[in-house]
Amino acid sequence: MTRIFSGVKPTGHLTLGNYLGAVRRWVEVDQHQGEALFSVVDLHALTVEHDPARVRRLSRQAATLLLASGLDPELCTLFVQSHVDEHARLSYLLECTATDGELRRMIQYKEKSVRAREAGQGVRLSLLTYPVLMAADILAYGTDEVPVGEDQTQHVELTRDLALRFNQRYGHTFTVPRATRPAVAARVMDLQDPTSKMGKSHENGAGIVYLLDDADTVRRKVMRAVTDSGREVVYDRDVKPGLANLLDLMAAATGGNPEELAGVYESYGALKKDTADAVVELLRPVRERHAELAADPGYVDRVLREGAERARGIARPLVDRAYRAIGL
Ligand code: ADP
Repeated sequence: MTRIFSGVKPTGHLTLGNYLGAVRRWVEVDQHQGEALFSVVDLHALTVEHDPARVRRLSRQAATLLLASGLDPELCTLFVQSHVDEHARLSYLLECTATDGELRRMIQYKEKSVRAREAGQGVRLSLLTYPVLMAADILAYGTDEVPVGEDQTQHVELTRDLALRFNQRYGHTFTVPRATRPAVAARVMDLQDPTSKMGKSHENGAGIVYLLDDADTVRRKVMRAVTDSGREVVYDRDVKPGLANLLDLMAAATGGNPEELAGVYESYGALKKDTADAVVELLRPVRERHAELAADPGYVDRVLREGAERARGIARPLVDRAYRAIGL
């Protein structure tokens, strides 16, 4: 059976980008298609300045939101990364497989290290090694498929390189995984700056729709989305990135195709209004279910405890094998 692994970082509140780029596919496709594991990857939240209590709160909220989005513990395994020691154990072996040069080339490292320096903070070593830990997350489960948004493509490529290199040097140990992504909205852009992705760590950004935003907030953010001074509704990501983003959102929320939708609208305003309504309807059930689940913390605890046990059961023998293969 196809083994599937993916994760979400508790570095902020989950966004519409996380939902459309990854989570919705986990719910609608992946958990039904294979043996799927999904993780709140909290170790990854420590790579930049963080507040311990906030990370803990956001981890819990992310797990609750994943359940609210429709992940079903009967169909998949949901757990918190730090509850399973194998991730950190394997990460070290992979650090001994990767080179600093290939990590310094990662786009996210380049962007985030510049931001940390600009904020007058040191660049944590873990920011550089983050993709190695991500490779460990994936390889520890013998993963075949990694359903992620477009921004993670480079990291999955590195994971493949490390798996192949390890296998070549030390004998076949790891499955070489591949990235899968949704057909539409694999890269949701910031509504205020459509040249950069909608990322959860830009706190309180007016251009970011959070899964827990209420209907009025969602409407306001979508209606104020930055477009351009033109009038004609055409789908062109390079020339009209703001408009293309709205068409992508509308298509993803209603099951349509962005190019065809462009032909339907005669004004930017009408497109914005319908997109706002569609996104509100898309998120309504998630928000409602989140409120129910948040009132039952015992249930979420149990899901996460059982999830961690199942995850450990898969990862431990595989990581033990990697330790033996490398000479320990
Ligand atoms: P973030 O960048 O919000 O911190 P994570 O690294 O936690 O996101 O990623 C969780 C999943 O959401 C990944 O599969 C990632 O590719 C996807 N994702 C994140 N932002 C977007 C976006 N703006 N558009 C599409 N997918 C996204």
